[in-house]
Amino acid sequence: MRWQDREGSSNIEDRRGSSGGRVTRSTGILGMIALLVGAYYGVDLSGFVGNPLQQATVQNAPVQSSAQEQELARFSSVVLKETENVWSNYFAQRGARYQVPTMVLYRGATPTGCGTGNAEAGPFYCPADNKLYIDLSFYNTMKRELGAEGDAAFAYVLAHEVGHHVQTVLGTSQKVHQMQSRTNKTQANALSVRLELQADCYAGVWGHYVEKNGIFEAGDIEEAYNAAEAVGDDRLQQRAQGYTVPHSYTHGTSAQRKQWFQVGLRTGDINQCNTFQN
Ligand SMILES: [Zn+2]
Repeated sequence: MRWQDREGSSNIEDRRGSSGGRVTRSTGILGMIALLVGAYYGVDLSGFVGNPLQQATVQNAPVQSSAQEQELARFSSVVLKETENVWSNYFAQRGARYQVPTMVLYRGATPTGCGTGNAEAGPFYCPADNKLYIDLSFYNTMKRELGAEGDAAFAYVLAHEVGHHVQTVLGTSQKVHQMQSRTNKTQANALSVRLELQADCYAGVWGHYVEKNGIFEAGDIEEAYNAAEAVGDDRLQQRAQGYTVPHSYTHGTSAQRKQWFQVGLRTGDINQCNTFQN
């Protein structure tokens, strides 16, 4: 992406230097899932659970930021700024003002309005405080563990989380959560899939305008498509457990995620993102 000369957002809260607390990764995968279910009410990218049996990390040392991480922090602020431009325009056209979200950069774990945020759940948005929580190391996780490499892949992730913010300010998330509280687990999962696919479509709407502004370079759109596929439930479950359980899907299959991202990208029209229809 051609982002280097573009303006970054000022709505960044950088907590990378603060000790965010201990990340317990010795609980095993079931313990981790229980932890996420119990303490976690945000909306994430994928339901992605990294390898919880790997090293426990305590973030007490003074922060060293690599050149790569610094560049990624700056890149993320530019992506956020582009989302602010796109969504501010959208709301302004409808006579409304877009309340911009804050992007929190952190490492490992951090307190959020939705409970303790853990980086192994991947990037997420907390509707209670209107903040996106991003551990920049997810860039490398995507590359090494999910096979989704590149700046446009990471931008898709950020734009997806902003999509959840847009759903929150439009009231869609609240409506869906109310419906979920009145239904069974399978139906609640199906509603979650629709909400997530809509966030993918909103990420595509962002991509539509970014493309118009000449920010995408050759191969960027393919990178973003690849990322959308990489975080499909079928792909992640197959990778984690060797089989898939469709009724447990919460984010949609690889094919669905790519398809809805594509709808937003092609049309640039939020009204085409009605994943709740039919
Ligand atoms: Zn999501």
